[in-house]
Amino acid sequence: MCRAWRRPDIMPTWISRAALAWLLLLPALPAAAKVITRLPTADKVVALTFDACESRTPAFLDHGISDFLVAHQIPFTIFVSGRFARHNGAALAALGKLDFVELENHSMNHFNHMERLPDQAIRQELAEADAALFQASGRHSRYFRFPAGNYDARSLAVVEQAGYKVVHWSFASGDPGRSVTPAHLTEWVLLKTRPGDILIFHINGRGWSTARALPGIVAALQRRGYRFTRLDRMLP
Ligand SMILES: [Zn+2]
Repeated sequence: MCRAWRRPDIMPTWISRAALAWLLLLPALPAAAKVITRLPTADKVVALTFDACESRTPAFLDHGISDFLVAHQIPFTIFVSGRFARHNGAALAALGKLDFVELENHSMNHFNHMERLPDQAIRQELAEADAALFQASGRHSRYFRFPAGNYDARSLAVVEQAGYKVVHWSFASGDPGRSVTPAHLTEWVLLKTRPGDILIFHINGRGWSTARALPGIVAALQRRGYRFTRLDRMLP
């Protein structure tokens, strides 16, 4: 019989120290963070989301997209980077007056690897973008999307501790691809879309075919019985 089993107090010191360190460490770990990629529903409802990214080069709202959605009063969400908000104040002010349009946070400077930033810089990216969005539209943000979708456990925890929920997407539409035609984009999105999906496109001029494809995509989904929602109407 093993003496250690009968007398745990004679276990090697390193084991008990390791166990103690683990127990002390546990309460310090952040609560399990997670990225939302779907709506919590089996109903035929999807969220149309659009990224308004801007890093160094000024970018401008693709009115071909927003005019269509606004004219038909179709709910949608834009993830706005702070730099973009500064260059598109009038357009965002107009959208901010519409209750079926949601404006959310896509960082201030759109660094493609926010997981490489220290905690304080991440918090600053959130706060500055929210301030720019508020100045442009009178809206504050509750949801956040990481630029290029890059994050790690620490950066995700920092964002959640700042009071944001992180929302990414169910599948990539591929609309930043220059070779993606409106027909390809339409075919791909209609092939992939399922109830509860969060769709992602770009509204900063880099969704090359998005404005031309969107009316057909929306009409086809409506024929299938789908409706559209702001994220904050469906997410906690
Ligand atoms: Zn982006």
